[in-house]
Amino acid sequence: MTTPARPVDVLRLYLGESVQEHVALAPYTSARIGGPADVFVVVKSASELMGVMRVIWEQAVPYTILGGGSNVLVSDKGVRGVVVLDRAKEVRFENSDQPTVWCEAGVIFSNLANRCASKGLAGLEWAATVPGTVGGAVYGNAGAFGSDMSENLIWADVLTRAGEKRISVADMQYGYRTSILKRGDKDSIILSALLRFKKCGQRRSVC
Ligand SMILES: Cc1cc2nc3c(=O)[nH]c(=O)nc-3n(C[C@H](O)[C@H](O)[C@H](O)COP(=O)(O)OP(=O)(O)OC[C@H]3O[C@@H](n4cnc5c(N)ncnc54)[C@H](O)[C@@H]3O)c2cc1C
Repeated sequence: MTTPARPVDVLRLYLGESVQEHVALAPYTSARIGGPADVFVVVKSASELMGVMRVIWEQAVPYTILGGGSNVLVSDKGVRGVVVLDRAKEVRFENSDQPTVWCEAGVIFSNLANRCASKGLAGLEWAATVPGTVGGAVYGNAGAFGSDMSENLIWADVLTRAGEKRISVADMQYGYRTSILKRGDKDSIILSALLRFKKCGQRRSVC
């Protein structure tokens, strides 16, 4: 009788030795506390994230998506199953009369705000002091200084067990620091987002 493959071994077939076991999560959170993840995977692109999620769903293992770790507290007992750290960081500037920026969910939000300002794109200045990733901000409708993600998001591409889908800002049903994803649909993984901007004459830094 053959022993069934462990999820970690199946993930390693896909991603190699970047899949680790018993990794302390404290360094990956703002609070700097918390025990280990059973299995820890760092993804560097939206396509890697999709591949990992398909394996996780096929193997029926519990999982947690971690962005910047700035809105989570990890128990000292750690996290069972697979923790997927999203470090997918591609950004594309689409500069027309109505400029937009497409970015993967692992992009650091405050860095994006600064990059946009330095390119003369206005509208994301409020995000310059918000820690975390674009994925975390889309998920929780991050906001500051009277603005929030609902004012910038055009749509987000999301992976579900049924496949990819595009969720418009209206369908996110944003409220104060919440979204339809945060309120209920656990198996929705934010892959990327398209954000709206205005052209601004000056190139500047926001912090
Ligand atoms: C010092 C400090 C200052 C802060 N200031 C502000 C502020 O001014 N305004 C504000 O709104 N918030 C603020 N926050 C909270 C935090 O920055 C935001 O909630 C942020 O948007 C979280 O993003 P993150 O990437 O760190 O998410 P994480 O903490 O990593 O995750 C938060 C939740 O989002 C989910 N998630 C993350 N990425 C994805 C993804 N790709 N797909 C699906 N789910 C995902 C996680 O599973 C988790 O449930 C602050 C936090 C700190 C520590």
